[in-house]
Amino acid sequence: MIELKNKRVLVVGLGKSGLAAARFLKKRGASVTVSDARPATLIAELPMLLDEGFMVEAGSHGLLTFRRQDLIVVSPGVPMSTPELVQVRALGLHIIGELELGAEFLAGQSIGITGSNGKTTTTTLVGEILAASGRPTLVGGNIGRPVTDLAEESTPDTWSVLEVSSFQLETVETFKPRIALVLNITPDHLDRHGSFEAYAAAKARITEFQTADDFLVLNAEDVKTQMVAAKTKAQIYWFSAKRQIKQGAFAHGESIFFIPKEGAKPEPIMPVAEIPLAGAHNVENVLAAITAAKLAGVETATIRSAVAAFKAVEHRLEFVRELDGVRYYNDSKATNVDATVKAVEAFEGNIWLILGGKDKDSDYATMSALLRERVKTVLTIGSAAEKIEHQLAGVVKIERAETVERAIALVHEAASAGDVVLLAPACASFDQFDNYEHRGRVFKQLVTAL
Ligand code: ADP
Repeated sequence: MIELKNKRVLVVGLGKSGLAAARFLKKRGASVTVSDARPATLIAELPMLLDEGFMVEAGSHGLLTFRRQDLIVVSPGVPMSTPELVQVRALGLHIIGELELGAEFLAGQSIGITGSNGKTTTTTLVGEILAASGRPTLVGGNIGRPVTDLAEESTPDTWSVLEVSSFQLETVETFKPRIALVLNITPDHLDRHGSFEAYAAAKARITEFQTADDFLVLNAEDVKTQMVAAKTKAQIYWFSAKRQIKQGAFAHGESIFFIPKEGAKPEPIMPVAEIPLAGAHNVENVLAAITAAKLAGVETATIRSAVAAFKAVEHRLEFVRELDGVRYYNDSKATNVDATVKAVEAFEGNIWLILGGKDKDSDYATMSALLRERVKTVLTIGSAAEKIEHQLAGVVKIERAETVERAIALVHEAASAGDVVLLAPACASFDQFDNYEHRGRVFKQLVTAL
């Protein structure tokens, strides 16, 4: 356990996790400084933090502030390539992430869920299944509540279900979930990780400190994810939406099965048709969640009813409305190409696809065959519009809409009964919106107002 009493600790980055970490540290007797690159005027919490007795550095990071510490806790939004961090790391200073700090102090058992796509959906679902089974359950990490918050509340009976991002995994030194899930590894955040290999390596760190008593759940159909199997000491369970696997959950025909041990008879869990979410990718998420729940000892009947009662998380292929036979879906969280592919695959055709936003060095041409087959028109928005139009030229009909408002106006004019309007932009939102939630809400308001 990290000793915090009377230690000088710096928290870098004042987002929700950074704030939670700062308070957590202070409560345990550390002398806490917080540093944020944003100017003081943009940090709404600043007066409160000063009142609470924190030392605050705003507007820039001072190298001296960094060097003076016993420990540095980094928020997930702050890249490890931040020059001050690189310099003090070279000096041997102890640097950890908020996840690591919180996880050290978590009582009970934890489930860590990572992957390029499906983390929030799967984390939320696992949380709901465990809660339905009567286990004291906390859900957080990269979504919702910071891990240091959960640590405050956890007891030896608690199951903490944690969504874990590649950024959080970059800095782990001891994080050891009882059950780790890697849903898939497809290109994302290449702008920050530098290469696909570096990104995949960060994801694999979820199992780095697991032992033979722990479980690692992997997607049998995802090549990069399979490679994580070679790096683990944990017991490996698989999930597959396509074929029977040795141990774990799989879909076969109309049904989902679970094999608890290699060689055992598959136990029927539930019909695939009872999954209330659109898209084959959500079958994978459900299979992953079922495997985790089984490994946590939840009874099948509870799993089945919790899955059947599950509602799509907002902005994840969320049905908005049907108007004149046209169905509108909000998948604003499709912020990378793979998520957009999965969203398009969820519909048979006649799709009006809204694409664009802030580019993340993505390759949109990889979607060509699928878009040609299912999409009527691509409507481009945001700063990536030109790149998308260039890469998809000649593949599908493309119209420059510039904004979500115009895209909806265009589509409302032109779409006919049986069409699907899909916001699944394959890009980040920060060029035109505060975040993807904002983008999704604007889309929903416009659609509702039609
Ligand atoms: P994350 O938390 O990993 O971003 P979400 O559950 O929020 O995952 O979903 C993000 C996006 O990816 C949404 O557009 C969603 O429809 C899509 N998605 C969800 N699950 C998967 C999956 N297993 N594979 C590919 N795309 C997925």
